[in-house]
Amino acid sequence: MKANNNLKYISTRGHASQLSFKDVIFEGLAPDGGLYVPESWPCLDSKLITSFANMSYQEIAYFVFKPYIDSSLTDSLLKEIIRDSYKSFSNSEITPVREVTDSEFLLELFHGPTYAFKDVAMQFISRLFDYYLDQDNEKINILGATSGDTGAAAIHGFQGIDSANVFILHPYNLISPTQRKFMTTIKSKNIINIAVKGNFDDCQKIIKDIFSNKSYKRSKKLGAINSINWARIMCQITYYFYCATRISNSENIVFSVPTGNFGDIFAGYISNMMGLKFKKLIIATNENNILHRTLKTGDHKLADVVSTTSPSIDIQVSSNFERLLYDACKDSDHINSLMNDLNKNKSFKLSESILRKIRKLFLSGSANQDKVACIIKEYQEKYNITLDPHTAVGVICGKDLVNDNEKLVTLSTAHPAKFKESVSEIISNDSFVTDRVRELESMEEKMIIVENNSNDVKSIIDEVVQ
Ligand SMILES: *Cc1c(COP(=O)(O)O)cnc(C)c1O
Repeated sequence: MKANNNLKYISTRGHASQLSFKDVIFEGLAPDGGLYVPESWPCLDSKLITSFANMSYQEIAYFVFKPYIDSSLTDSLLKEIIRDSYKSFSNSEITPVREVTDSEFLLELFHGPTYAFKDVAMQFISRLFDYYLDQDNEKINILGATSGDTGAAAIHGFQGIDSANVFILHPYNLISPTQRKFMTTIKSKNIINIAVKGNFDDCQKIIKDIFSNKSYKRSKKLGAINSINWARIMCQITYYFYCATRISNSENIVFSVPTGNFGDIFAGYISNMMGLKFKKLIIATNENNILHRTLKTGDHKLADVVSTTSPSIDIQVSSNFERLLYDACKDSDHINSLMNDLNKNKSFKLSESILRKIRKLFLSGSANQDKVACIIKEYQEKYNITLDPHTAVGVICGKDLVNDNEKLVTLSTAHPAKFKESVSEIISNDSFVTDRVRELESMEEKMIIVENNSNDVKSIIDEVVQ
């Protein structure tokens, strides 16, 4: 593999200066409102990809990350950080592939400390941040919004790290009690939980609002870790390679991905751009199906967010979709005009040429709560597998769209115990709940509840960061 040590990151909106890897991982939105993407996709040699079949998860991660990282991190340090990051996983395979039938698989992404796939990235990022910050004798204040799982993963990744304070916004009362407790039971002084009286999109809006004040952002040394952060996407590419090289005839794989902010599935797209061959990526949505409607009609039209049993994908504003749109046209003026339309009219229309490109690799579906409950029951009875509601959305959309000769891999994005309230009601049994989750129940919680506006959040930041 040719090392691409000078890979630069550019904004989808075309009006921000390009950044190096070390700079881009500390950024959220680009100053022009866009998202950073590598200027080109590095391609892995097909022989190297084949050889992944005999490598550990950590070894594959090294080869996947390497082309995105510059000389600011040596090979041996990169390997060390990767090794260290995945020690906190309870399964030695990190993301094991579970066979349901000979043509259906679950890629289990929930063996990290907070029971959802977000740990895969966050365990790595916290260590990477700490390394860079320590080296420069710097500190950072991380500000993130969570629909439940990102925040928990960030909090667990960064707890007790001296170089960072972490402020996490979550929609008050709109995440599951277990999701909340994974965050609010952490006692570290550098962790601040903020519950906003609004939905997830409101939380994201507050973050965007605060970041858009550039002098404030600079003076408070604010950094982002939500799914628009490049390093998170990068970390998620690994498991597509890991999974595909553990399944025979992997070129027939269709990945079904429960999708909210479009980060996880975009990582799948990147794996394909880097040379991994497979059939399709399914954008699996619940009642909040804006992306499914977009793929069907070309109309990207915001609707109100509906609360469902799969709260981590109760999202209308799917930030990372912009990265795909940019890649499909490579025209930042066009992206600017689409995003202006979205701001002004709460909708935009995709051109035929962009739609055609997207549809080459992407399919989409939408599964409602009733279907989710049915499939959770069915898998419990038929296979003795307890699906979490997000995974269930993926399985339903996958089974709907997969063809006879194809292999369905659904990304199992969370452990059912994280959503035990809804899952145990559906299957009338809670034997899937782990001891660790039971322990959370009696633990003391710490969070600040605020109204839905950015000034209240700012004043909390101001109190901590003088
Ligand atoms: C975050 C999350 C998703 C959605 O992932 P995106 O990258 O936002 O599309 C799906 N399922 C679970 C359990 C999650 O935590």
